[in-house]
Amino acid sequence: MKTVLITHPDCLEHVTPPGHPEQVARMDAVAHALDGMDLHRILAPMAAEDDVLRVHPRSHLDALRRAAPATGVVSLDADTHMSPGTLAAVCRGAGGAVRAVDLVMDGTARNVFVAMRPPGHHAEKTTAMGFCFFGNVAIAAKHALDHHGLSRVAIVDFDVHHGNGTQDLVEDDPRILFCSTHQMPLYPGTGHADETGVADNVVNVPLAEGTDGTGFRHAMNTHVLPRVRAFKPDMIVISAGFDAHAHDPLAGLALVADDFGWITGALCDLADDLCDGRVVSCLEGGYDLTALGACVAAHVKVLRERCDG
Ligand SMILES: [Zn+2]
Repeated sequence: MKTVLITHPDCLEHVTPPGHPEQVARMDAVAHALDGMDLHRILAPMAAEDDVLRVHPRSHLDALRRAAPATGVVSLDADTHMSPGTLAAVCRGAGGAVRAVDLVMDGTARNVFVAMRPPGHHAEKTTAMGFCFFGNVAIAAKHALDHHGLSRVAIVDFDVHHGNGTQDLVEDDPRILFCSTHQMPLYPGTGHADETGVADNVVNVPLAEGTDGTGFRHAMNTHVLPRVRAFKPDMIVISAGFDAHAHDPLAGLALVADDFGWITGALCDLADDLCDGRVVSCLEGGYDLTALGACVAAHVKVLRERCDG
């Protein structure tokens, strides 16, 4: 078994205004970083509507369809824009996350990296925001639970921004543990430690500006990894944002690529112990192109090392 890489060229057709950090060139950086790595590459399918409807109401899909422009770019908020190719890109992002779950569940893959854009973890039930439209990791987790019959799924989000959208989509479901480390204060402003979900199933770990790899590893070792272990998940889903890197232009943490390799290994260790190594990782943020490439390479290298083929 190899690590599966899921991507699709449609994610290049989501075009943001000039100077926007969530840009097409991010995918070139990711592709370059993974070039030559021994991965099983497949194309992301479009999500089925039912997959999306597990977390978003139909009104959200309808609103996005109505907003989608035939030409040019429309702005849903100051950060979040739609071009004619946006809907296809977000449907393939969600579809890629769902397919990743299927591949891990049927034994085709031990772990999967879904390299798609735009990201998803800021999208709330009825609100596209923060570059995000569909909650891809929440969609993946609900699919694993409802379609494949798993009992518990843990989501770990190490993007530098709080995954407010994922929290909004899963905090009322005790079958899902959502853990997030993030810089605070920072966009979107949520993610306080006292936001704990309906069944103590949300773990928010705010980090002060300037926190480096030592502080990040301590936070993970103290607050996140023990909670994931105690939860005994049947699958671990990662919101893999790489904007906590020291060079990222949108935030002020001080991680390096090796820190992302470390947390990947720690989560794979838990998955090996608890759930036959089942890990699904979805790309979120990461806006310094050089750092993004280095971090993705470090992340996927560890995923690949955990496969035996
Ligand atoms: Zn982010």
